[in-house]
Amino acid sequence: MRFDVLTLFPEMMESIFSASILGRARTAGFLDVHCVDIRDFTKDKHRKVDDTPYGGGYGMVMTCQPAVDCIRHVKAQAEGTTRVIYLSPQGKVLTQQKAKELCSYDRLILLCGHYEGIDERIIELEVDEEISAGDYVLTGGELPAAILVDCVARMQDGVLANRECYEKESLSDGLLEHPQYTKPRVFEGLEVPEVLVNGNHALQEKWRREQALERTKRKRPDLYEKAFPEGDTPTQK
Ligand code: SAM
Repeated sequence: MRFDVLTLFPEMMESIFSASILGRARTAGFLDVHCVDIRDFTKDKHRKVDDTPYGGGYGMVMTCQPAVDCIRHVKAQAEGTTRVIYLSPQGKVLTQQKAKELCSYDRLILLCGHYEGIDERIIELEVDEEISAGDYVLTGGELPAAILVDCVARMQDGVLANRECYEKESLSDGLLEHPQYTKPRVFEGLEVPEVLVNGNHALQEKWRREQALERTKRKRPDLYEKAFPEGDTPTQK
């Protein structure tokens, strides 16, 4: 899958996408991530990419020309199905389900706003969808874009060791994952649950399911209610 991240701060994004699992997946050819500098597309002789808002108000607004030209340039390189997404606090909040849906595209073009935001006409002309990282406001769309790339990328073949890594974890089936433990068996008096070291796989599976149900109910009652609406019980699932 190919991601194009359109930003005024490509160097910030490159460092994120070059490290750890994503970096290795890129090197191995499982992921294609391009960070594109919107400023390279400005026709302003001072390389300006923002201006004061019409009607007054604080801050600066990203102008149409560089962003629209940048999106069109990147789109023209496209093969296959493409979705242009503007990272925005006004979009629908990203969920695991939404990330799964985005896997159906061959390419995602991610537009990062900055300053007070972007001229509305950029959205009207070129954006298919707005997605938010959460109900809070950040200084720019770069961190939300990195979150989106990370979340969608780890569902691509070859990025993680196998599909189970993301199919059997928190939120993939609407529940939180069971607790995880590693060595040593005892740390500061706290022991790994006996069931995990007794070698009985059926019991371990049962324990994991019970733990997932218990912690979802306790930590995220909203998710539990969604998974088991009134009248439904975990055993029916
Ligand atoms: N004035 C805008 C508003 O009230 O909707 C907020 C602009 S914000 C300070 C600057 C940029 O950060 C936005 O253009 C957007 O790209 C990005 N941004 C901020 N919060 C975000 C969030 N929760 N999710 C995704 N992008 C966000």
